[in-house]
Amino acid sequence: MWKRVGRDRQREKVYRAERKFRDEIGCNYILRDDEVKKLIRRLVGRSGLKVEVKFKNGDRFWARARRVMGERYRVELPRWARNEVVICHELAHILAGLENWHNGAFVSQMIKLYRRVAGREKAEMLKKHFRAERVRVTGRGEKPIWVFKAGE
Ligand SMILES: [Zn+2]
Repeated sequence: MWKRVGRDRQREKVYRAERKFRDEIGCNYILRDDEVKKLIRRLVGRSGLKVEVKFKNGDRFWARARRVMGERYRVELPRWARNEVVICHELAHILAGLENWHNGAFVSQMIKLYRRVAGREKAEMLKKHFRAERVRVTGRGEKPIWVFKAGE
């Protein structure tokens, strides 16, 4: 069973960095539903995972990613979240492993995804914002937040 062995220390800092970055590059627009689906398909691509999207009306919700069952996942997106930065954030939760929450492995995965969407230059800008908030951007040498222990 899953055992929590760490804390989600970086969450607030990650949110803050992303907010500042989105303001800086003007990434606060709302993609159309079909654009969102296309983007998700492209990014999940060869991973072999199944990711469905659920659009939520209104802006009162958090965006989130969760496991539906087995290797099927769902990304829930309110209107404000339908842009490349937030979508890469949610998909990074899935591709890095939900158990990593907002640790360095997660952030590293998010930057990778965003580089594929927006190119190297913008990905570097995003990384700069993470660094400015003292966010860990690599999973190297890092302990996980959750670990799986068989038979407990
Ligand atoms: Zn998150």
